[in-house]
Amino acid sequence: MAFFGKTRSKPHVVCVPFPAQGHINPMLKLAKLLHFNGDFHVTFVNTEYNHLRLLKSRGPNSLNGLSSFRFETIPDGLPESDVEATQDVPSLCDSTRKTCLPHFKKLISKLNNSTDTPRVTCIVSDGTMSFALEAAEEVNVPVVLFWTNSACGFMCYLQYRHLIEKGFTPLKDSSYITNGYLDTTVDWVPGIKELRLKDFPSFMRTTDPNDVMVDFVLWECERALKASAIILNTFDALEHDVLEAFSSINNLPPVYPIGPLNFLFKDVTDKELNSIGSNLWKEDRECLEWLESKEPNTVVYVNFGSIAVITNEQLIEFAWGLANSKKTFLWVIRPDLITGENSVLPQEFLEETKNRGMLSSWCPQEEVLDHSAIGGFLTHSGWNSTLESVCGGVPMICWPFFSEQHTNCRFSCHEWGIGLEIEDAKRDKIEGLVRELMDEEKGKEMKEKALRLKELAIDASCGPYGSSFLNFKKLFHLFS
Ligand code: UDP
Repeated sequence: MAFFGKTRSKPHVVCVPFPAQGHINPMLKLAKLLHFNGDFHVTFVNTEYNHLRLLKSRGPNSLNGLSSFRFETIPDGLPESDVEATQDVPSLCDSTRKTCLPHFKKLISKLNNSTDTPRVTCIVSDGTMSFALEAAEEVNVPVVLFWTNSACGFMCYLQYRHLIEKGFTPLKDSSYITNGYLDTTVDWVPGIKELRLKDFPSFMRTTDPNDVMVDFVLWECERALKASAIILNTFDALEHDVLEAFSSINNLPPVYPIGPLNFLFKDVTDKELNSIGSNLWKEDRECLEWLESKEPNTVVYVNFGSIAVITNEQLIEFAWGLANSKKTFLWVIRPDLITGENSVLPQEFLEETKNRGMLSSWCPQEEVLDHSAIGGFLTHSGWNSTLESVCGGVPMICWPFFSEQHTNCRFSCHEWGIGLEIEDAKRDKIEGLVRELMDEEKGKEMKEKALRLKELAIDASCGPYGSSFLNFKKLFHLFS
Protein backbone atom coordinates (compact mmCIF):
# COMPACT_ATOMS: atom_id res chain seq x y z
CA MET A 1 0.00 0.00 0.00
CA ALA A 2 2.87 2.35 0.76
CA PHE A 3 4.12 1.89 -2.78
CA PHE A 4 0.65 2.53 -4.11
CA GLY A 5 0.36 5.79 -2.19
CA LYS A 6 3.77 6.99 -3.34
CA THR A 7 3.11 6.22 -6.98
CA ARG A 8 -0.25 7.98 -6.95
CA SER A 9 1.35 11.19 -5.73
CA LYS A 10 3.91 11.56 -8.53
CA PRO A 11 3.17 14.10 -11.24
CA HIS A 12 2.26 12.28 -14.44
CA VAL A 13 3.08 13.64 -17.90
CA VAL A 14 1.56 12.10 -21.02
CA CYS A 15 3.73 12.65 -24.12
CA VAL A 16 2.15 12.45 -27.57
CA PRO A 17 4.53 12.78 -30.54
CA PHE A 18 3.41 13.16 -34.14
CA PRO A 19 4.00 9.67 -35.58
CA ALA A 20 7.14 10.37 -37.64
CA GLN A 21 10.79 9.76 -36.78
CA GLY A 22 11.77 13.43 -36.63
CA HIS A 23 9.03 14.07 -34.05
CA ILE A 24 9.36 10.88 -31.98
CA ASN A 25 13.11 11.37 -31.39
CA PRO A 26 12.98 14.77 -29.66
CA MET A 27 9.77 13.88 -27.78
CA LEU A 28 11.37 10.73 -26.39
CA LYS A 29 14.39 12.73 -25.25
CA LEU A 30 12.13 15.22 -23.49
CA ALA A 31 10.13 12.38 -21.90
CA LYS A 32 13.31 10.76 -20.58
CA LEU A 33 14.52 14.10 -19.23
CA LEU A 34 11.26 14.61 -17.38
CA HIS A 35 11.47 11.15 -15.91
CA PHE A 36 15.11 11.37 -14.94
CA ASN A 37 15.42 15.00 -13.94
CA GLY A 38 12.01 15.74 -12.55
CA ASP A 39 11.00 12.34 -11.22
CA PHE A 40 7.82 12.39 -13.30
CA HIS A 41 5.75 9.36 -14.12
CA VAL A 42 5.69 9.31 -17.94
CA THR A 43 3.30 7.74 -20.42
CA PHE A 44 4.60 7.86 -23.99
CA VAL A 45 1.91 7.44 -26.63
CA ASN A 46 2.86 5.95 -29.99
CA THR A 47 0.54 5.06 -32.83
CA GLU A 48 -0.19 1.35 -33.17
CA TYR A 49 1.63 1.30 -36.49
CA ASN A 50 4.82 2.86 -35.11
CA HIS A 51 4.65 0.67 -32.02
CA LEU A 52 4.86 -2.38 -34.30
CA ARG A 53 7.72 -0.83 -36.24
CA LEU A 54 9.64 -0.04 -33.07
CA LEU A 55 9.16 -3.58 -31.79
CA LYS A 56 10.41 -4.90 -35.12
CA SER A 57 13.48 -2.69 -35.30
CA ARG A 58 14.43 -2.83 -31.60
CA GLY A 59 13.25 -6.24 -30.45
CA PRO A 60 10.11 -7.60 -28.74
CA ASN A 61 11.02 -6.37 -25.23
CA SER A 62 12.21 -2.95 -26.28
CA LEU A 63 9.01 -1.13 -25.30
CA ASN A 64 8.32 -2.77 -21.97
CA GLY A 65 9.36 0.48 -20.33
CA LEU A 66 10.00 0.89 -16.62
CA SER A 67 7.47 0.92 -13.81
CA SER A 68 7.12 4.69 -14.10
CA PHE A 69 7.92 5.13 -17.79
CA ARG A 70 5.34 3.35 -19.91
CA PHE A 71 4.17 3.06 -23.47
CA GLU A 72 0.60 3.17 -24.75
CA THR A 73 -0.83 3.26 -28.25
CA ILE A 74 -3.64 4.89 -30.19
CA PRO A 75 -4.61 4.23 -33.84
CA ASP A 76 -3.52 6.74 -36.51
CA GLY A 77 -6.60 6.20 -38.68
CA LEU A 78 -4.74 5.12 -41.82
CA PRO A 79 -5.50 1.76 -43.45
CA GLU A 80 -3.10 -1.01 -42.48
CA SER A 81 0.03 -1.08 -44.57
CA ASP A 82 3.43 -2.65 -44.95
CA VAL A 83 5.38 -2.36 -41.69
CA GLU A 84 8.52 -1.18 -43.52
CA ALA A 85 6.98 1.81 -45.26
CA THR A 86 7.21 5.50 -44.37
CA GLN A 87 3.67 6.79 -44.04
CA ASP A 88 2.51 9.57 -46.34
CA VAL A 89 2.73 12.81 -44.33
CA PRO A 90 -0.36 14.68 -45.68
CA SER A 91 -2.52 11.54 -45.19
CA LEU A 92 -1.15 11.13 -41.69
CA CYS A 93 -1.80 14.78 -40.79
CA ASP A 94 -5.36 14.50 -42.04
CA SER A 95 -6.10 11.17 -40.39
CA THR A 96 -4.55 11.90 -36.98
CA ARG A 97 -6.51 15.14 -36.83
CA LYS A 98 -9.77 13.33 -37.62
CA THR A 99 -9.24 10.04 -35.79
CA CYS A 100 -7.18 10.29 -32.64
CA LEU A 101 -9.24 12.38 -30.23
CA PRO A 102 -11.78 9.76 -28.99
CA HIS A 103 -9.04 7.14 -28.63
CA PHE A 104 -6.85 9.56 -26.75
CA LYS A 105 -9.68 10.62 -24.42
CA LYS A 106 -10.33 6.96 -23.67
CA LEU A 107 -6.65 6.45 -22.89
CA ILE A 108 -6.53 9.41 -20.49
CA SER A 109 -9.60 8.10 -18.72
CA LYS A 110 -8.04 4.62 -18.49
CA LEU A 111 -4.86 6.12 -16.99
CA ASN A 112 -6.81 8.20 -14.50
CA ASN A 113 -8.85 5.22 -13.39
CA SER A 114 -5.91 2.86 -13.07
CA THR A 115 -4.86 1.96 -9.54
CA ASP A 116 -1.13 1.74 -10.25
CA THR A 117 -0.75 4.98 -12.20
CA PRO A 118 -0.80 8.54 -10.82
CA ARG A 119 -3.45 10.91 -12.12
CA VAL A 120 -2.41 12.73 -15.29
CA THR A 121 -1.11 16.21 -14.40
CA CYS A 122 -0.02 17.51 -17.82
CA ILE A 123 -0.06 16.58 -21.50
CA VAL A 124 2.93 17.37 -23.69
CA SER A 125 1.68 17.03 -27.20
CA ASP A 126 3.36 17.60 -30.52
CA GLY A 127 2.32 20.96 -31.99
CA THR A 128 0.66 19.05 -34.82
CA MET A 129 -1.31 16.69 -32.53
CA SER A 130 -3.37 19.43 -30.95
CA PHE A 131 -6.44 17.21 -30.48
CA ALA A 132 -4.81 16.72 -27.05
CA LEU A 133 -6.16 20.16 -26.10
CA GLU A 134 -9.74 18.87 -26.04
CA ALA A 135 -8.83 15.79 -24.08
CA ALA A 136 -6.95 17.93 -21.57
CA GLU A 137 -9.85 20.32 -21.17
CA GLU A 138 -12.08 17.45 -20.14
CA VAL A 139 -9.79 16.46 -17.27
CA ASN A 140 -8.69 20.01 -16.52
CA VAL A 141 -4.94 19.67 -17.02
CA PRO A 142 -2.57 21.98 -18.98
CA VAL A 143 -1.20 21.19 -22.42
CA VAL A 144 2.33 22.12 -23.39
CA LEU A 145 2.73 21.99 -27.16
CA PHE A 146 6.11 20.82 -28.41
CA TRP A 147 6.73 22.16 -31.94
CA THR A 148 9.69 20.03 -32.96
CA ASN A 149 10.82 22.36 -35.75
CA SER A 150 13.12 25.37 -35.71
CA ALA A 151 11.93 28.71 -34.34
CA CYS A 152 12.31 30.19 -37.85
CA GLY A 153 10.20 27.35 -39.28
CA PHE A 154 7.52 27.74 -36.63
CA MET A 155 7.47 31.53 -37.15
CA CYS A 156 6.92 30.99 -40.88
CA TYR A 157 4.04 28.59 -40.24
CA LEU A 158 2.45 31.26 -38.06
CA GLN A 159 2.57 33.57 -41.13
CA TYR A 160 0.51 31.29 -43.38
CA ARG A 161 -2.68 33.28 -42.65
CA HIS A 162 -0.87 36.46 -43.82
CA LEU A 163 0.47 34.70 -46.90
CA ILE A 164 -3.14 33.97 -47.90
CA GLU A 165 -4.49 37.40 -46.93
CA LYS A 166 -1.71 39.14 -48.86
CA GLY A 167 -2.41 36.96 -51.91
CA PHE A 168 0.95 35.11 -51.96
CA THR A 169 -0.69 31.70 -51.78
CA PRO A 170 -2.33 29.82 -53.45
CA LEU A 171 -0.17 30.42 -56.52
CA LYS A 172 -2.07 31.55 -59.62
CA ASP A 173 -0.83 28.56 -61.60
CA SER A 174 2.01 26.05 -61.51
CA SER A 175 4.27 28.24 -63.70
CA TYR A 176 4.73 30.39 -60.58
CA ILE A 177 6.90 27.67 -59.08
CA THR A 178 9.55 28.08 -61.77
CA ASN A 179 9.04 31.60 -63.22
CA GLY A 180 11.03 33.44 -60.55
CA TYR A 181 7.99 34.43 -58.51
CA LEU A 182 9.25 32.51 -55.47
CA ASP A 183 12.33 34.79 -55.41
CA THR A 184 10.05 37.64 -54.29
CA THR A 185 11.24 38.85 -50.89
CA VAL A 186 9.11 39.92 -47.95
CA ASP A 187 10.20 41.93 -44.93
CA TRP A 188 7.22 41.60 -42.60
CA VAL A 189 7.94 38.29 -40.88
CA PRO A 190 8.60 39.10 -37.19
CA GLY A 191 12.24 38.58 -36.25
CA ILE A 192 13.38 37.90 -39.84
CA LYS A 193 14.76 40.82 -41.86
CA GLU A 194 14.14 39.42 -45.28
CA LEU A 195 12.85 36.13 -46.62
CA ARG A 196 12.18 34.89 -50.13
CA LEU A 197 8.87 33.13 -50.74
CA LYS A 198 10.90 30.03 -51.57
CA ASP A 199 12.31 30.06 -48.02
CA PHE A 200 8.87 29.61 -46.47
CA PRO A 201 7.78 26.07 -45.60
CA SER A 202 6.98 24.53 -48.98
CA PHE A 203 3.26 23.85 -48.50
CA MET A 204 2.52 27.42 -49.66
CA ARG A 205 3.71 26.48 -53.18
CA THR A 206 0.26 25.12 -53.98
CA THR A 207 -2.28 26.20 -56.58
CA ASP A 208 -5.12 24.53 -54.69
CA PRO A 209 -7.19 26.90 -52.53
CA ASN A 210 -8.26 23.87 -50.44
CA ASP A 211 -4.82 22.35 -50.07
CA VAL A 212 -4.90 19.82 -47.24
CA MET A 213 -1.48 20.80 -45.83
CA VAL A 214 -2.17 24.54 -45.87
CA ASP A 215 -5.44 23.85 -44.14
CA PHE A 216 -3.63 21.67 -41.59
CA VAL A 217 -1.01 24.36 -40.89
CA LEU A 218 -3.69 27.03 -40.39
CA TRP A 219 -5.66 24.77 -38.09
CA GLU A 220 -2.69 23.77 -35.93
CA CYS A 221 -1.30 27.32 -35.71
CA GLU A 222 -4.64 28.69 -34.54
CA ARG A 223 -4.84 26.01 -31.90
CA ALA A 224 -1.31 26.74 -30.72
CA LEU A 225 -2.82 29.86 -29.12
CA LYS A 226 -4.78 27.68 -26.69
CA ALA A 227 -1.79 25.92 -25.13
CA SER A 228 -0.39 26.80 -21.71
CA ALA A 229 3.09 27.02 -23.22
CA ILE A 230 5.00 26.18 -26.38
CA ILE A 231 8.40 24.55 -26.35
CA LEU A 232 10.94 24.46 -29.14
CA ASN A 233 14.06 22.37 -29.59
CA THR A 234 16.37 25.30 -30.25
CA PHE A 235 18.43 27.77 -28.21
CA ASP A 236 18.50 31.47 -27.72
CA ALA A 237 21.97 32.15 -29.12
CA LEU A 238 21.05 30.42 -32.37
CA GLU A 239 17.66 31.97 -33.09
CA HIS A 240 17.56 34.99 -30.77
CA ASP A 241 15.73 37.47 -33.02
CA VAL A 242 12.98 35.08 -34.03
CA LEU A 243 12.54 33.82 -30.48
CA GLU A 244 12.25 37.36 -29.21
CA ALA A 245 9.72 38.21 -31.90
CA PHE A 246 7.25 35.55 -30.73
CA SER A 247 6.26 37.98 -27.97
CA SER A 248 4.89 40.34 -30.67
CA ILE A 249 2.34 37.75 -31.82
CA ASN A 250 -1.08 38.35 -30.33
CA ASN A 251 -2.27 35.73 -27.87
CA LEU A 252 0.61 33.35 -28.46
CA PRO A 253 1.41 31.52 -25.21
CA PRO A 254 4.95 31.86 -23.84
CA VAL A 255 7.53 30.13 -26.04
CA TYR A 256 10.38 28.30 -24.28
CA PRO A 257 13.45 27.23 -26.25
CA ILE A 258 14.84 24.18 -24.42
CA GLY A 259 17.30 22.84 -26.97
CA PRO A 260 19.36 21.33 -28.16
CA LEU A 261 17.81 18.37 -26.34
CA ASN A 262 20.82 16.35 -27.57
CA PHE A 263 22.96 18.19 -25.03
CA LEU A 264 20.42 18.70 -22.29
CA PHE A 265 19.75 15.01 -22.53
CA LYS A 266 23.39 14.06 -21.95
CA ASP A 267 22.74 14.32 -18.20
CA VAL A 268 20.40 11.34 -18.38
CA THR A 269 22.62 8.58 -17.10
CA ASP A 270 20.04 5.92 -16.27
CA LYS A 271 21.04 2.87 -18.30
CA GLU A 272 17.61 1.28 -18.37
CA LEU A 273 16.03 4.50 -19.52
CA ASN A 274 18.67 5.02 -22.16
CA SER A 275 18.15 1.54 -23.54
CA ILE A 276 14.71 2.67 -24.73
CA GLY A 277 15.30 3.74 -28.32
CA SER A 278 13.15 5.34 -30.98
CA ASN A 279 14.55 4.21 -34.32
CA LEU A 280 11.86 2.99 -36.68
CA TRP A 281 14.54 1.32 -38.84
CA LYS A 282 17.09 -1.20 -37.65
CA GLU A 283 20.31 0.60 -36.83
CA ASP A 284 23.54 -0.37 -38.56
CA ARG A 285 26.38 0.31 -36.11
CA GLU A 286 29.13 -1.04 -38.36
CA CYS A 287 29.62 2.39 -39.85
CA LEU A 288 30.92 3.65 -36.47
CA GLU A 289 33.70 1.06 -36.57
CA TRP A 290 34.46 2.05 -40.13
CA LEU A 291 34.67 5.72 -39.08
CA GLU A 292 37.25 4.76 -36.44
CA SER A 293 39.68 3.94 -39.23
CA LYS A 294 39.38 7.40 -40.83
CA GLU A 295 41.39 10.58 -40.24
CA PRO A 296 39.67 13.56 -38.56
CA ASN A 297 37.46 15.73 -40.80
CA THR A 298 37.87 13.57 -43.90
CA VAL A 299 34.48 11.89 -44.34
CA VAL A 300 31.41 13.36 -46.04
CA TYR A 301 28.26 12.01 -44.41
CA VAL A 302 25.16 11.85 -46.64
CA ASN A 303 21.66 11.27 -45.27
CA PHE A 304 18.26 12.64 -46.30
CA GLY A 305 16.34 11.73 -43.14
CA SER A 306 13.29 9.56 -42.68
CA ILE A 307 10.67 10.94 -45.07
CA ALA A 308 12.28 12.35 -48.24
CA VAL A 309 12.18 10.22 -51.37
CA ILE A 310 14.33 10.77 -54.46
CA THR A 311 14.23 9.49 -58.02
CA ASN A 312 16.70 7.02 -59.46
CA GLU A 313 18.11 9.82 -61.66
CA GLN A 314 18.80 11.95 -58.60
CA LEU A 315 20.42 8.97 -56.86
CA ILE A 316 22.78 8.57 -59.79
CA GLU A 317 23.69 12.27 -59.89
CA PHE A 318 24.58 12.13 -56.18
CA ALA A 319 26.56 8.94 -56.69
CA TRP A 320 28.73 10.50 -59.41
CA GLY A 321 28.99 13.83 -57.59
CA LEU A 322 30.42 11.99 -54.59
CA ALA A 323 32.63 9.69 -56.66
CA ASN A 324 34.07 12.57 -58.71
CA SER A 325 34.87 14.61 -55.59
CA LYS A 326 37.32 11.81 -54.66
CA LYS A 327 36.33 12.22 -51.01
CA THR A 328 35.66 9.45 -48.53
CA PHE A 329 31.94 9.18 -47.77
CA LEU A 330 29.35 7.46 -45.61
CA TRP A 331 26.05 7.39 -47.50
CA VAL A 332 22.85 6.22 -45.83
CA ILE A 333 20.27 4.98 -48.32
CA ARG A 334 17.04 4.10 -46.53
CA PRO A 335 15.26 1.05 -47.98
CA ASP A 336 12.37 3.30 -49.08
CA LEU A 337 14.44 6.34 -50.16
CA ILE A 338 14.12 5.80 -53.91
CA THR A 339 10.79 6.05 -55.74
CA GLY A 340 9.91 3.50 -58.40
CA GLU A 341 11.32 0.10 -59.20
CA ASN A 342 14.78 -0.82 -60.45
CA SER A 343 16.78 1.63 -58.39
CA VAL A 344 20.36 0.48 -58.37
CA LEU A 345 23.67 2.22 -58.02
CA PRO A 346 25.83 1.83 -61.15
CA GLN A 347 28.40 -0.97 -60.93
CA GLU A 348 31.20 1.40 -62.09
CA PHE A 349 30.37 3.73 -59.18
CA LEU A 350 30.54 0.84 -56.68
CA GLU A 351 33.85 -0.32 -58.17
CA GLU A 352 35.37 3.13 -58.18
CA THR A 353 34.42 3.99 -54.60
CA LYS A 354 34.81 0.59 -52.94
CA ASN A 355 37.85 1.71 -50.92
CA ARG A 356 36.51 5.05 -49.80
CA GLY A 357 32.72 4.76 -49.69
CA MET A 358 30.54 3.10 -47.08
CA LEU A 359 26.86 2.50 -47.75
CA SER A 360 24.37 1.89 -44.97
CA SER A 361 20.59 1.71 -44.67
CA TRP A 362 20.07 3.47 -41.31
CA CYS A 363 22.72 4.68 -38.90
CA PRO A 364 22.93 6.08 -35.35
CA GLN A 365 23.08 9.60 -36.77
CA GLU A 366 23.85 11.55 -33.62
CA GLU A 367 26.86 9.34 -32.91
CA VAL A 368 27.97 9.63 -36.52
CA LEU A 369 27.79 13.43 -36.46
CA ASP A 370 29.68 13.43 -33.20
CA HIS A 371 32.53 11.41 -34.68
CA SER A 372 35.75 13.31 -35.34
CA ALA A 373 36.12 11.70 -38.80
CA ILE A 374 33.07 13.53 -40.15
CA GLY A 375 34.08 16.70 -42.01
CA GLY A 376 30.76 17.62 -43.64
CA PHE A 377 27.11 16.61 -43.78
CA LEU A 378 25.11 16.52 -47.01
CA THR A 379 21.61 16.85 -45.55
CA HIS A 380 17.99 17.52 -46.46
CA SER A 381 17.96 20.19 -43.70
CA GLY A 382 15.40 18.49 -41.46
CA TRP A 383 15.46 20.32 -38.13
CA ASN A 384 16.79 17.40 -36.08
CA SER A 385 19.53 16.78 -38.61
CA THR A 386 20.45 20.46 -38.66
CA LEU A 387 20.60 20.67 -34.88
CA GLU A 388 22.52 17.39 -34.60
CA SER A 389 25.03 18.82 -37.08
CA VAL A 390 25.37 21.96 -34.95
CA CYS A 391 25.91 19.76 -31.88
CA GLY A 392 28.64 17.88 -33.74
CA GLY A 393 30.25 21.12 -34.98
CA VAL A 394 29.79 19.87 -38.55
CA PRO A 395 29.16 22.23 -41.53
CA MET A 396 26.57 21.21 -44.12
CA ILE A 397 25.64 21.00 -47.75
CA CYS A 398 21.88 21.53 -47.85
CA TRP A 399 19.37 20.01 -50.24
CA PRO A 400 15.94 20.72 -48.76
CA PHE A 401 12.92 18.74 -49.97
CA PHE A 402 9.80 20.04 -48.34
CA SER A 403 8.13 21.70 -45.33
CA GLU A 404 10.33 24.05 -43.26
CA GLN A 405 13.50 22.35 -44.50
CA HIS A 406 13.71 25.31 -46.93
CA THR A 407 13.66 27.78 -44.03
CA ASN A 408 16.28 25.77 -42.14
CA CYS A 409 18.45 25.70 -45.25
CA ARG A 410 18.16 29.47 -45.65
CA PHE A 411 19.17 30.04 -42.04
CA SER A 412 22.01 27.49 -42.17
CA CYS A 413 23.48 29.07 -45.31
CA HIS A 414 22.77 32.78 -44.83
CA GLU A 415 22.27 33.50 -41.12
CA TRP A 416 24.64 31.06 -39.49
CA GLY A 417 27.15 30.60 -42.34
CA ILE A 418 27.43 26.85 -41.80
CA GLY A 419 25.73 25.62 -44.98
CA LEU A 420 26.12 25.60 -48.78
CA GLU A 421 22.91 25.14 -50.75
CA ILE A 422 22.55 22.74 -53.67
CA GLU A 423 20.45 24.68 -56.16
CA ASP A 424 20.72 22.19 -58.97
CA ALA A 425 21.35 18.57 -57.99
CA LYS A 426 23.63 17.71 -60.91
CA ARG A 427 26.82 15.72 -60.47
CA ASP A 428 29.27 18.53 -61.31
CA LYS A 429 27.53 20.95 -58.93
CA ILE A 430 27.50 18.35 -56.14
CA GLU A 431 31.17 17.54 -56.74
CA GLY A 432 32.03 21.28 -56.63
CA LEU A 433 30.19 21.88 -53.36
CA VAL A 434 31.74 18.81 -51.71
CA ARG A 435 35.22 20.06 -52.65
CA GLU A 436 34.40 23.59 -51.49
CA LEU A 437 33.24 22.28 -48.12
CA MET A 438 36.05 19.79 -47.56
CA ASP A 439 39.07 21.51 -49.17
CA GLU A 440 38.59 25.23 -49.57
CA GLU A 441 38.91 28.31 -47.38
CA LYS A 442 35.12 28.79 -47.31
CA GLY A 443 34.72 25.27 -45.92
CA LYS A 444 37.28 25.98 -43.19
CA GLU A 445 35.43 29.17 -42.19
CA MET A 446 32.18 27.22 -42.06
CA LYS A 447 33.79 24.59 -39.84
CA GLU A 448 34.95 27.28 -37.42
CA LYS A 449 31.47 28.79 -37.28
CA ALA A 450 29.95 25.36 -36.70
CA LEU A 451 32.35 24.72 -33.82
CA ARG A 452 31.49 28.11 -32.32
CA LEU A 453 27.77 27.27 -32.49
CA LYS A 454 28.48 23.93 -30.85
CA GLU A 455 30.07 25.77 -27.91
CA LEU A 456 27.08 28.08 -27.64
CA ALA A 457 24.76 25.06 -27.74
CA ILE A 458 26.68 23.48 -24.87
CA ASP A 459 26.52 26.74 -22.90
CA ALA A 460 22.74 26.93 -23.41
CA SER A 461 22.19 23.42 -22.14
CA CYS A 462 24.41 23.41 -19.09
CA GLY A 463 23.14 24.07 -15.62
CA PRO A 464 22.82 26.13 -13.59
CA TYR A 465 22.81 29.19 -15.91
CA GLY A 466 22.35 27.89 -19.48
CA SER A 467 19.32 29.55 -21.12
CA SER A 468 17.70 26.29 -22.26
CA PHE A 469 18.44 24.57 -18.96
CA LEU A 470 16.75 27.42 -17.10
CA ASN A 471 13.73 27.32 -19.43
CA PHE A 472 13.38 23.60 -18.91
CA LYS A 473 13.35 24.09 -15.15
CA LYS A 474 10.85 26.95 -15.43
CA LEU A 475 8.40 24.59 -17.11
CA PHE A 476 8.32 22.15 -14.20
CA HIS A 477 5.43 23.90 -12.46
CA LEU A 478 3.25 23.32 -15.55
CA PHE A 479 4.13 19.64 -15.80
CA SER A 480 3.22 18.98 -12.16
N1 UDP B 1 18.11 9.43 -38.22
C1 UDP B 1 18.90 8.41 -37.74
N2 UDP B 1 19.53 7.62 -38.64
C2 UDP B 1 19.42 7.75 -39.98
C3 UDP B 1 18.60 8.81 -40.46
C4 UDP B 1 17.98 9.65 -39.55
O1 UDP B 1 19.05 8.23 -36.53
O2 UDP B 1 20.03 7.00 -40.72
C5 UDP B 1 17.43 10.34 -37.26
C6 UDP B 1 18.16 11.66 -37.18
O3 UDP B 1 19.19 11.58 -36.21
C7 UDP B 1 17.05 12.62 -36.79
C8 UDP B 1 15.79 12.01 -37.40
O4 UDP B 1 16.13 10.66 -37.72
O5 UDP B 1 16.92 12.68 -35.38
C9 UDP B 1 15.39 12.70 -38.68
O6 UDP B 1 14.79 13.91 -38.37
P1 UDP B 1 14.91 15.21 -39.27
O7 UDP B 1 14.14 16.28 -38.60
O8 UDP B 1 16.33 15.53 -39.55
O9 UDP B 1 14.29 14.82 -40.66
P2 UDP B 1 12.94 14.07 -41.11
O10 UDP B 1 13.23 12.63 -41.06
O11 UDP B 1 11.85 14.49 -40.18
O12 UDP B 1 12.74 14.56 -42.51
